[in-house]
Amino acid sequence: MSDAEKLVGGCLCGDIRYEITSPLTFVSQCCCKDCQKATGTGHTTIIGIHKDQLSMDGTPVTYTNTGDTGGKVTRHFCGTCGGRLYTSGDHPGDFIMVQAGSLDDPAQISPESVIYVKDKQPWDLTDPELPHHPGLPLRPPIEESKRGDA
Ligand SMILES: [Zn+2]
Ligand SMILES: [Zn+2]
Repeated sequence: MSDAEKLVGGCLCGDIRYEITSPLTFVSQCCCKDCQKATGTGHTTIIGIHKDQLSMDGTPVTYTNTGDTGGKVTRHFCGTCGGRLYTSGDHPGDFIMVQAGSLDDPAQISPESVIYVKDKQPWDLTDPELPHHPGLPLRPPIEESKRGDA
């Protein structure tokens, strides 16, 4: 994805549409137990961006629980079709995770890491070439962009 490129996507029924501006902070496969439950899949592919980079047309419904780090995690999805759109939370605050499968063209991105491998199912295959982290890795790019002196 080039810096000038925009990512567009939406839910299954099309009631909710969104646009993401670059740059993307990270793209990861998340194998955590909550992602398995929330998506009904082995893992979910998430795009980390600052919340200001997402503009949404339509209003998702939300579900909030307590995540692995002890902070609140809110999942945003379409109230009509149930299509998952993005996740926000106390950690990492201003950053949100968009569900890559909701993009109109998910081939525009490619995952660079696998996280929460401790919860990964034996039948769920991930790219062995990617770095695998047992839980949530420290994400220097987020800290750097917060400081603004990177
Ligand atoms: Zn929908
Ligand atoms: Zn997860």
